[in-house]
Amino acid sequence: MTTAADDLDTITERWPTLHEAAGTRPTTTWPPAMGITRLMTEEERQEQAAERADTNPDAPGPRPTPIDVDVLDVMTTIETGLLTTADWLAERVQRPAFRATTGRGWSDDVHRQVVLLAAKDAADPRRWKYTGQRDAPTAAEWLSLRLRNAPGPFRALDEGERQAVENVARMGVELLRRTLGEARRKEAVPHPCPQPCGGQLVVEGGDGAPPVVRCEDCGRTWTEAAADVA
Ligand SMILES: [Zn+2]
Repeated sequence: MTTAADDLDTITERWPTLHEAAGTRPTTTWPPAMGITRLMTEEERQEQAAERADTNPDAPGPRPTPIDVDVLDVMTTIETGLLTTADWLAERVQRPAFRATTGRGWSDDVHRQVVLLAAKDAADPRRWKYTGQRDAPTAAEWLSLRLRNAPGPFRALDEGERQAVENVARMGVELLRRTLGEARRKEAVPHPCPQPCGGQLVVEGGDGAPPVVRCEDCGRTWTEAAADVA
């Protein structure tokens, strides 16, 4: 059983894979490269290219990369949930930065120390930021640290706050798994199982998780690194 903090880590780690599945980033080259964009039939590919091209489809030059709108929708849903939750939680648990009164000049040693301290406190990288870099991985990482009570200018979460973060984490990871799970594909391998069964081997991958070779008869599995994990 994974904790909500683990779920948030999963979202952070697999966000690039969602980008790949959406076609908003070059696909990996792991063979047989099977990102969603490459699983479309030629007809679907042409349709999408035609929809997106604002020029004559016969015009020279590269075709637009097909974008998977369903995956983008999922990403927007996950990201909005995480950012909204982080904004809400930060308002509640993040201590406002210290303020130092200014105007007493740098010749006052104590005053200078206080001003530097205040500036450092405000710039504490552990703080949630309401502007600038705001994306799903940043929010997921920040929320996971709050669930784990990591040190920083924050008070501990109460039960309601914890529950709210857990809900958004669970929803996010479920959406992510469902989306990437559909991207996982099987392909036959032209070698028999080296075990006595001599069964049909298949390779499963393409969803960003480590590819696995599996025997459909005896169920033994091998990872890409040839380590026997069965
Ligand atoms: Zn076998």
